[in-house]
Amino acid sequence: MTVEQTWRARSTVHDIGDAERDPRRASRVYPAGPRSHGGQVPKDGMRSTTEAPEWCLDPRPWFPCPECGEGLFWEDLQHGVQLICANYQCSSAGMSLPVWRAQQHREDLGLDAPVSEAGWPRPALEGLPVPYITPVTSGRPWWGLTHGARVVRCQNQWCCQVCGFGLPPRAWVLVNTFGDVLSSSAMHEKCLQMSTSTCPHLLGPGSRLRQAEVERSDILGDGEPLSERGALTREHWTVPTLNTSTSISTP
Ligand SMILES: [Zn+2]
Ligand SMILES: [Zn+2]
Repeated sequence: MTVEQTWRARSTVHDIGDAERDPRRASRVYPAGPRSHGGQVPKDGMRSTTEAPEWCLDPRPWFPCPECGEGLFWEDLQHGVQLICANYQCSSAGMSLPVWRAQQHREDLGLDAPVSEAGWPRPALEGLPVPYITPVTSGRPWWGLTHGARVVRCQNQWCCQVCGFGLPPRAWVLVNTFGDVLSSSAMHEKCLQMSTSTCPHLLGPGSRLRQAEVERSDILGDGEPLSERGALTREHWTVPTLNTSTSISTP
């Protein structure tokens, strides 16, 4: 695959949640839908929304290593997902870094302004509202990736993955036929409605996702009941009771 093809393939998946762990699993669990803005014709002078950003080809000028400051490379087989420092004198050499963490470092250095922080209404980029958990580099959202630290915050503090604000005791999730929760975090009802109206493929014909109203106690994190003290790293959320007791929308 060329860089352009890789970028396009990724861009069609608005949120593959756990792709940073296992891209093959994510593509099975969350099938790609059509880009909801795919039919838009870019105005004169505007960059095409499907044009790969420069950092897809060479991330080095954009993403400095947090340890040594040298430009990071894409990791083999994790292009567009994980970066790596190739400076053999660096204490982080060879250790991979997810995009969101490298982007966080850009913002910490003042190289980029954070745009998808908690708030309502959501900022719109490339014609779509940008969720709280979506990393953004220089105005280009990483639609297929999630901000790991923000997902952990949403999980531990019962916050909304779309707006970042706290959730009521009952909130909404999108689950697939295996009971996996999309992006392993919940949403407000209005945030769910906004997501499914701007990304109709989420619940449209052919989608294996369905919406479900849940409480925290309905959810398992890595197969265990969610603990009150919270997890240090992101857990994979499932809603097992929905798996067998309710009908799933089929193509
Ligand atoms: Zn380094
Ligand atoms: Zn919300």
